[in-house]
Formats: sequence, C-alpha cells, structure tokens
Amino acid sequence: MRIKLAESAGFCFGVKRAIDIALKTATSGKNVYMLGDIVHNEDVVKQISAVGIKKIKKLTHGKNRILLIRAHGAGIETFRKAQELGYLIVDATCPMVKEIHRIAQGKECQGYRIIVIGDKKHDEVLGIAGQLKNKAIIIDPAKNIPWAMLKKVKKACIVVQSTQNIEKVEKIVRVLRPRIREMKFFNTVCRPTRIKQKEIRIMPKQNGCMVIIGSKNSANTRRLYEISKSLNTRSYWVQSKKEINPQWFKDKKTVGITAGASTPDSITREIIDYIRQIGKAS
Ligand code: SF4
Repeated sequence: MRIKLAESAGFCFGVKRAIDIALKTATSGKNVYMLGDIVHNEDVVKQISAVGIKKIKKLTHGKNRILLIRAHGAGIETFRKAQELGYLIVDATCPMVKEIHRIAQGKECQGYRIIVIGDKKHDEVLGIAGQLKNKAIIIDPAKNIPWAMLKKVKKACIVVQSTQNIEKVEKIVRVLRPRIREMKFFNTVCRPTRIKQKEIRIMPKQNGCMVIIGSKNSANTRRLYEISKSLNTRSYWVQSKKEINPQWFKDKKTVGITAGASTPDSITREIIDYIRQIGKAS
C-alpha cells in the first residue's frame, strides 16, 4: 500500500508564526494571556499551556500582563480595552488576516458596506467585522443568504474569511453580483488555503481512500474533509491514530493523506507510521 502525503499538509505560515511568537513571549518573565485557544488543535493548546500561557474568557486588569492576540486577529474594541486596562499587547495576527482588515477598513472609508463571507461565529470573521464602524453583513456559506439585510445595499465590498472553500465563495458572489449595483469583490482566501484546496481537489480522485488529519473544531480541516468526501466517499477525518480503523485500507493500493493548517507534523507522522504498519500487516 502506497501512502501519498499532500505537500501542503500541516501548519500554514500564519499558524507557525503565531506559535513562534507565543513561545518567545512566554520567556518574557511576564504573565501571558490569550482570549481563547491559540489555534484549533488540542496538542498545540497543550504545548502553549505547558509554557505557562493562560487562556481567559475576558479581560480583567492588565498590570504586568501581556495579552497575546492570536493568528485569527481581534476587533479594534479588544485592543482598545486591553490598552485601557494596562495590558501590554503582543499581536500575532497573521499578516494575511491583517490584509483583510486593511481592505475592509479602506473600502468602508470609501462608502462601501462591508460583506464578509465566512463562518458566522468564527473568531477571524468576528475580528474582521470588529475593524469596522458600521455593522458588517456576514454571509455564512452554511446558511441561507440574508436577503433582508441586503435589500437596501447599493454599494458593497465583499471580503472572505481566509480559509473558506473557494468554489462555494465564488458561487455566492455570482448570486450577489446582479443584485448589488456597485460591488467590489476581494477574494481574500489566503495562499496556503488555496494550495491546500487545490491538492484536495486532485488527491481523492487518485487514491483509494483519503485520511484528513486535524481537530474536530478546526474549520479549515472540516473544509478539506468536505471537499475530499464529495470526491471520494472513502474519506476519513481523524484527530489521532486512535480513531483509525484498519478496515478502511483493506484492498487499497494507495492512501492519500493531508492535514489541516493547525495540525502539528508530529501527529501526521505518527498516523503515517501507524497506517504503514497496517499496510505491512495486511
Ligand atoms: S490559514 Fe492563512 S490566514 Fe489563516 S493563519 Fe494560516 S496563513 Fe494566515
């Protein structure tokens, strides 16, 4: 049985960068806090907590404290409040998310209503909406288009959560275009996501089955799984080797593997070794 690992499997540039910043900040001698998990992966969360960085639900007092802003970014109000409370801010927002903020703010200043295509409750989407003076219209691809909110919109700028499924986004944009008189569309799906999605549109057709590795709360892993499953029903989403069923690989000549942007390479390697053993035993 041959195992084919996607070239783009695992950490993206923004996640790697945020983890490096977090580990470096942990050595500062100050108490370091984060509003939520650094990324959606249990192993990375454990690693970050082991170096003493604490997760909090809300800001309290910031004396001698550092607030680490995660790769997903945060709204202006979070920065303002943290500063007011005396936190020192270390910003690990991915530069590609910052670029989405810049576009949205710039276009709002030019009079465009901002539409964000993304998961309604995802921190990145809330962070983008949190850059704006007016309420953004969020279009969640998993839900219906909120036509009532779009009714009076004549001039709009669309930006996209960096990890969205490009095909679904383009479909929504095609539906919106004839309904909005002046519409600007910035496809802000980031480069690492594009590369991952390009591979996952090919690999399921070339392999007997697919294993997609990543946390069950990772949105980008879910999207890789959904695309894979639509092309090869023998697609399986696992967080660890414990979830692997040897039967999946019965009579399979090749297995394709990929991993979400927040999945550490150590987990992927462990799973590959395990599948290799299954292949040898059968
Ligand atoms: S998925 Fe893209 S935007 Fe998000 S952290 Fe990774 S590189 Fe940055």
